Amino acid sequence: MPARPEVVFAGTNGGALDRVEDYEAAGGFRALAKARAMAPDDVIAELEVSGLRGRGGAFFPTGRKWAFVPKPEQLAKPHYLVVNADESEPGTFKDREIILRVPFRFLEGCLIAAYAIQSQHVFVYIRGEYEREFEVLRDALEAMRKRDLLGEITVVLHRGAGAYICGEETALLESLEGRRGQPRTKPPFPAIAGLYAAPTAVNNVESITTVTSVLELGAAEYATLGVENSTGTRVFSLSGDVVTPGNYELPHGITLRELIYDVGGGVPGGRDLKAIIPGGSSTAILTASEIDTPLDFDSLVKAGSSIGSAGVVVIDDRCCMVQLGIRVSQFYEHESCGKCTPCRVGTRWLTQILQKIEDGRSSQADLDLLLSVCDRILGKCLCPLGDSDAIAVASYVDRFRDEFQAHIETGRCPLGGDSSLEGILAPSAQHERHLHEVVHA
Ligand code: SF4
Repeated sequence: MPARPEVVFAGTNGGALDRVEDYEAAGGFRALAKARAMAPDDVIAELEVSGLRGRGGAFFPTGRKWAFVPKPEQLAKPHYLVVNADESEPGTFKDREIILRVPFRFLEGCLIAAYAIQSQHVFVYIRGEYEREFEVLRDALEAMRKRDLLGEITVVLHRGAGAYICGEETALLESLEGRRGQPRTKPPFPAIAGLYAAPTAVNNVESITTVTSVLELGAAEYATLGVENSTGTRVFSLSGDVVTPGNYELPHGITLRELIYDVGGGVPGGRDLKAIIPGGSSTAILTASEIDTPLDFDSLVKAGSSIGSAGVVVIDDRCCMVQLGIRVSQFYEHESCGKCTPCRVGTRWLTQILQKIEDGRSSQADLDLLLSVCDRILGKCLCPLGDSDAIAVASYVDRFRDEFQAHIETGRCPLGGDSSLEGILAPSAQHERHLHEVVHA
């Protein structure tokens, strides 16, 4: 098993630190005190030296993002920190565990970030299905208020209403302002005109929680963790056909093999590994032969995929790739906000063509059409949602073309009744319950 770094989100690999007394006793809030003893620009410089990059999927340098926010003397408007806790990417379930286990570490990071961009207003946009997480944060904030830890800063918890697209930063801002959650055209970027058209930094839960680690450790030491261009640790959400699924905080650069076999115990029942989705449902799939790929930004780009949200999905030899494509495409079709045509129509086409292939009603022309639709979506949408579906589906064909051909040539699924998608990118029970409530409202 690879060595675990000494400084992690204390609690995410073990017990919880969800009581303010315990958190303080374990050294909590020292990073905040350290930050407040520095000039705000020096905190931003510290983040830049650390090499911390956004953990939500875009991997944009956190310090640089904050540096784009104008100073109050440059733009006399309120400044906002908005934290994206609308975790919805299939295969990704880390933010909820961070919030549940180390809520104060997360909130400490919020206060440090707010200080750095000179904001007195923090909004945490939390996924609507995360009821318990919302309550934990609410109670944690109350405990911090009683200890006068918030100072002049107001922290608002805002519950989402179950739309995946609200995880896109500008759709989130629209939703926060009370409008339909649809992405905005950019520019202007949120740093200049974000929430209420004012300067806004939008960061996700893991990024903000890691800010606390950077201040605690010091940027130079934090940068020694991980690998070049992907410094530090990452919480990998490991799921699918693996013995011990869960969230594991490990340095960037560990290989898929180490994560799946040494940490996750391998594939249950000694079955063969077939494929791996390395960064959530929106990332290109890899084959079992690529298992020695390191989990860092550059290595995954080189492999033709992306580290995305670091949701690693393990797929064994029972899975039909066409069925997997249907599951993924149905999700994006359902979650498309409908604002742009390639996404609204294209995701539906992808689902329908894939279903035709799976049902044995397709010809070679359908496979060509499938790839043509992917091409007509890619790079032609307002936000990454459409691309996510196209990238995923095109990669399934690219890596497993023989399986698609077999469906077309034999007129049936070669895996037949043995195929299993159980536990692979499956909607969570909470999500199903939420949908159920909406249906019967
Ligand atoms: Fe909406 Fe899809 Fe266009 Fe994004 S890509 S704005 S989700 S229609």
